Amino acid sequence: MSEPVLIAKGITKTLGQGAGQVMAVRGVDITLVPGQLTLLMGPSGSGKTTLLSILGCILTATSGSITIDGTDIAGLSPEALAKLRRTHIGYIFQSYNLFPTLNALENVRIALDVAGQSGPAAVRKAEQALRDVGLGHKLKSYPANMSGGEKQRVAVARAIASAPSIVLADEPTAALDSENGHGVMKLLSEIARTQNRSILVVTHDPRTLAYADRVIRIEDGLIIGEELTSGTGTKKAKAEVTAAGLAKPPSETKVAPGRLILGETTEDQGSRVQSQAPVPLAPTSALLDLAPNGRRAKRRRKNSSKSAGRHRA
Ligand code: ADP
Ligand code: MG
Repeated sequence: MSEPVLIAKGITKTLGQGAGQVMAVRGVDITLVPGQLTLLMGPSGSGKTTLLSILGCILTATSGSITIDGTDIAGLSPEALAKLRRTHIGYIFQSYNLFPTLNALENVRIALDVAGQSGPAAVRKAEQALRDVGLGHKLKSYPANMSGGEKQRVAVARAIASAPSIVLADEPTAALDSENGHGVMKLLSEIARTQNRSILVVTHDPRTLAYADRVIRIEDGLIIGEELTSGTGTKKAKAEVTAAGLAKPPSETKVAPGRLILGETTEDQGSRVQSQAPVPLAPTSALLDLAPNGRRAKRRRKNSSKSAGRHRA
């Protein structure tokens, strides 16, 4: 059986100050295994982005532990944590977050560069990642000349180029029309299966259900249910997650893709979220802030006493 790529235990997160304090995540355990596309579904304001940011080591939990590819992140220096983030985790955002002045190939190459990979081999890797997402013919296109679906494909290529074991996506279909939303989900499920990645998609979009191997439901910062679905994942991955005791066996959830929780998945246009600043899932922190010798990295070191505390869960 493959080892879990991520084990999170007892994660809590308190946000805000004083009377405005919110416990956005209230004691969550999650284990991710390779070869699966997992959905984390819940209404607006349920803590999805906060949890994803913590699992991606962008935000530090108030309490709890996270182990990524066998490494407990609590023991890491800020620099070591940044390195782990660059090499083990790929990020995809709702609004693509491509650099408008760079073409598709350059947008992917910059992520490889930050992960310490440059030169002709990195160019070949970036080209391959773009071919993998069906954009081999758009290597030199700029974001302004691409559709939303194509831009999100570049973002997917950027996330997978350095072969991270974990890919985290925050509402990747929210800005896309039906065809492109389905296209991106199909692509992510194929990548999970064929490249043996563990992909966690945070969403409230019911269109994503048909592509999931596993659905975890979150409400008010707590996991309220988990099902293996009859999505597109491999039987092997499903057997593994069942054997690991992480979810109910598929026999208990024999339903058509998407039927399991579709009716219950409604977007609560929650006033709670609108009145407060969103969780800072900053794309730049996932990409640029982490340059090993860049100016931003130096600035981080200046505040290293603060960051050292921040990065310990
Ligand atoms: P989701 O991604 O599921 O919409 P979030 O993780 O963004 O939810 O937010 C979870 C909860 O935390 C919400 O109640 C939200 O209002 C609150 N919250 C988010 N960011 C902050 C913040 N910076 N300060 C205080 N509360 C916040
Ligand atoms: Mg969110």
